[in-house]
Amino acid sequence: MNNENILKQEGGRLIVSDTPVIPFIEGDGIGPDVWRGTAQIINSAVEKAYGGKKKIQWKEVLAGEKAFNKTGDYLPQETLDILNSHLVGLKGPLTTPVGEGFRSLNVALRQTLELYACIRPVQYFTNVPSPVKNPEDIDMVIFRENLEDVYSGIEFKYGEDKTKELLNFLKNTMGVTKIKDFNDVSIGIKPTSESKSKQLLRAAIEYALKHKRKSVTIIHKGNIMKFTEGSFRKWGYEVAEKEFGAVETEPGSTWKVIKAKHGEVVIKDVIADNFFQQALIRPKDYDVIAAMNLNGDYISDALAAQVGGIGIAPGANINYKTGHAVFEATHGTAPKYAGKNLANPSSLTLSAKLLLDHIGWTEAANLVLKGLSKAFEDMQVTTDFAREIGCKALSTDEFAKAVVERM
Ligand code: NAP
Repeated sequence: MNNENILKQEGGRLIVSDTPVIPFIEGDGIGPDVWRGTAQIINSAVEKAYGGKKKIQWKEVLAGEKAFNKTGDYLPQETLDILNSHLVGLKGPLTTPVGEGFRSLNVALRQTLELYACIRPVQYFTNVPSPVKNPEDIDMVIFRENLEDVYSGIEFKYGEDKTKELLNFLKNTMGVTKIKDFNDVSIGIKPTSESKSKQLLRAAIEYALKHKRKSVTIIHKGNIMKFTEGSFRKWGYEVAEKEFGAVETEPGSTWKVIKAKHGEVVIKDVIADNFFQQALIRPKDYDVIAAMNLNGDYISDALAAQVGGIGIAPGANINYKTGHAVFEATHGTAPKYAGKNLANPSSLTLSAKLLLDHIGWTEAANLVLKGLSKAFEDMQVTTDFAREIGCKALSTDEFAKAVVERM
């Protein structure tokens, strides 16, 4: 393999050759089907956009059941090493082995490569079945903090000695009086640091400025969790003010505004539970969303459902400092459709479209978007959408062909 074809990050910029080697994890269950459809669409878009001058050299790396069957390891070190050295990768859905002692492979990947921002764009495509009246009003990009919060995996099980030790410490040293029975309490820790919160909030604001978006909304439960969620909110305004020169929208307001060359970007905040109804009632008021890990997880799936569900929602996990990025389908392995050539590949395809944007191949990315939008418009869809809108269902491969024909 030619090292010149491995992506590099220099001076904050990604250096991309015309034939970059990009690792991919095929994924379990429907993974091979959605990967096959996606590869067909992405390779055709690159070919059409650049007439053969540019080409992705896909390199398979193992994870999940396929990895376990071949190597005895669900996430081999070699896979982590290759994703680390090649910077950018694409990932299909992975089975999280059931049982205690197994960490989610997705969480392990994010933690190992420190992919601190999980980015989920949510937009509507004509004819995609939606449960809301005006899905076209939804055009948001969620920035979810990926490394901290209750997802850190710091948990202690009820009844165990070390849990009791921790409870004793809380009672005797920290003066906690609210926990009565030491035998029936499990404890989870919610680390929330200034540095990790701010790097996420900074990325959301930078994205809003770069993409000329109107606002960044900080989502939090700071009314209840003052020092974790409340600090996240406070740090958001601090970053906006100190690093981007934001000023009050009006005297006395907590909201801020950044006067950018293209116009104004408003920095505001909403309490998480209120946001869920706001997103249904007034989605037009929201644009870029910055949230902590757990809130961001819920919000991502709730918003995805409004525009067609997880079968279509793309995702990216990015460390903007190192350049590491893993683009992934947001749905799971949907075992009942595995190997049946029925699954909708759009989530992985749109994630790969984000990858093309990330490496600066926007012409190809735009072709992918065009092909997909046109296919949905023409009701050329897989079974998940066909049964909702009442039209003939295409197989995964037929759908990919329909997208390519419409680029
Ligand atoms: P799931 O695999 O996402 O499937 C739930 C349902 O969503 C499917 O039965 C199907 O609905 C629909 N669906 C999802 N993706 C689809 C697609 N591409 N095309 C058409 N329909 C699709 O969720 P799950 O059943 O809860 O999880 C199964 C496994 O996936 C678990 O091992 C879980 O740990 C893993 N998982 C992995 C990831 C990841 O790797 N990022 C994420 C979530 C879950 P209908 O039955 O209504 O047709």
